Amino acid sequence: APMITFEGVTKRFGEGTEAFTALDGIDMTVNRGAIAGIIGRSGAGKSTLIRLVNGLEKATSGQVVVDGTEVGGLNDAGLRGLRREVAMIFQHFNLLSSRTAFDNVALPLEIAGLDRKAIRAKVGPLLDLVGLGDKATRYPSELSGGQKQRVGIARALATSPKLLLSDEATSALDPETTQSILALLKQINAELGLTVLLITHEMEVIKTIASHVAVIDKGRIVEQGPTFDVFTAP
Ligand code: ADP
Ligand code: ADP
Repeated sequence: APMITFEGVTKRFGEGTEAFTALDGIDMTVNRGAIAGIIGRSGAGKSTLIRLVNGLEKATSGQVVVDGTEVGGLNDAGLRGLRREVAMIFQHFNLLSSRTAFDNVALPLEIAGLDRKAIRAKVGPLLDLVGLGDKATRYPSELSGGQKQRVGIARALATSPKLLLSDEATSALDPETTQSILALLKQINAELGLTVLLITHEMEVIKTIASHVAVIDKGRIVEQGPTFDVFTAP
């Protein structure tokens, strides 16, 4: 079965005459082990779509199924379980400035209740994996943008998720750093078999990394399929 399925998903914000349809009849699947991209301009509905996957938003109608579970039917305990399986990285990294790289990566493990020894055994290898083995004691203010995103990726991987959601994760980075982060995501996808769903407004990101793409405009998917088919003129 696919990792993610959207079936006739509509999301409306507000009520009555104030209601705004952010997503309108989304049908989409993301296969296990894939790197899939959603591209569209600002306001198209990309963030709303990704927030439906980790249960931060609830569909107004239709079904969002993640790893066999319908997200709309989950209670609070179910949502907590889902969020251990579905990790996220962000445009502005969302690191805690008062914590070192090590302690940022450790945070989700502390929340999960692991002891200090178990945490050390996990965080070291994760920092090595993202190429920051020598930056464990640095604070975010002492790291470059690319390094901060590497910490964000290590933190996302801490709970051994099955799915990684990326919300414009390279949009604040220069082109060269963007390429290095995309290469890291590709490596993680290949080595850990982690499924990746990324949203972006940059065609270059899609072409570099995504095997499948959906183009979204005003809340509707206007085209989807293998990236090569969608972005190669006939
Ligand atoms: P994108 O990520 O593609 O920029 P979003 O999913 O953030 O688009 O937003 C899609 C549309 O839904 C926008 O018009 C936005 O203003 C609207 N929207 C998003 N969240 C809310 C909300 N909580 N309440 C009302 N409107 C919202
Ligand atoms: P990477 O490509 O390794 O993910 P960047 O391209 O953002 O990271 O940064 C390249 C190098 O520039 C970093 O390894 C770092 O040594 C240095 N650097 C850039 N900005 C900063 C900063 N604000 N503080 C410390 N080092 C920085």
